[in-house]
Amino acid sequence: MPAIIAHGGAGRYSPGEEHERGLKDAVAAGWEVLDSGGSALDAIEAAIVVLEDFPVFQAGFGSAMNIKGEIQTDASIMLGDLSCGAVAALTAAANPIKAARLVMEKTDHVLIVGDGADHLAQSYGLESRDLRSDARKEMYDRMLAKLRAGEEVAWYLPRLREVAADMSMGTVGAVAVDSEGRIASGTSTGGPMLKLPGRVGDAAVIGAGTYANENGGVSATGVGEPIIKHALAKKAVDLIADQGAREGIETLMEYARIKKVRFGIVAVEENEAIALGYTTEAMSWVSMKDGELKTFLSTGIGVRKDDGDDGTAKDDSSGKVLET
Ligand code: ASP
Repeated sequence: MPAIIAHGGAGRYSPGEEHERGLKDAVAAGWEVLDSGGSALDAIEAAIVVLEDFPVFQAGFGSAMNIKGEIQTDASIMLGDLSCGAVAALTAAANPIKAARLVMEKTDHVLIVGDGADHLAQSYGLESRDLRSDARKEMYDRMLAKLRAGEEVAWYLPRLREVAADMSMGTVGAVAVDSEGRIASGTSTGGPMLKLPGRVGDAAVIGAGTYANENGGVSATGVGEPIIKHALAKKAVDLIADQGAREGIETLMEYARIKKVRFGIVAVEENEAIALGYTTEAMSWVSMKDGELKTFLSTGIGVRKDDGDDGTAKDDSSGKVLET
């Protein structure tokens, strides 16, 4: 039986109805592919495209801007047979995940950045779009004004920590296993607001934000730099191979807690087990397995809305591992 899970980012934010709607639409799009015998690759691409097009998420349309007000998106995609592709600092493609898939399927490379990535996307006819939403422009203006006034503005830059609550993370990702047991995973983001031009995050780095092999697949989200340093996606899949999805992610979260890595992750195992965990205040995700849809919206500060029947982690949203 196939399975799919999609996430809408980990961080400090309050997932609401829009997040839920976007994630449900995304999982429905992916499930439609899986249910009709389609591949895990097509399923996660379909799911991530929905999320990229949904302005509330911070990927594709509605991406955060770098400090110069420019959009530079990162995305990656990987299959259980180790095929993979990634793009970074892409400026105009409406759906960066499709550009990552182009790198995987049409080139001899794994990661293409900047102008080269834009050129590849354009030459294969991918749709271009101004990815700056009004809401994101307002956020940018607000944060820039604080920066100009000499105030601290962004938590991922240590001197800019105070308005952390203002930050809405919203990277997206999806992992799936299809009816033939093939695994695929993908991640897409605009990166954090006010990042430096040219900064590339974990979402473009195979082994950091995205990884898949014959044992499992994962998509991670959170502050990109520590996720890269700890190679968390690869570590997660190795742990899943040794311990299974639930225990593997459990072990990973314990490691992340000890190392103080704030992040979230969704994982699928080759036996269709789905697991997810996070050490951030909030995370949102929706899964579909055996035809059953499950929604988890952590709203931070110890509150979690749970449409599923899992029952764990109702009282606390921090450092939790769930299996659906
Ligand atoms: N991991 C992303 C990055 O650092 C951000 C996120 O997941 O929200 O680019």
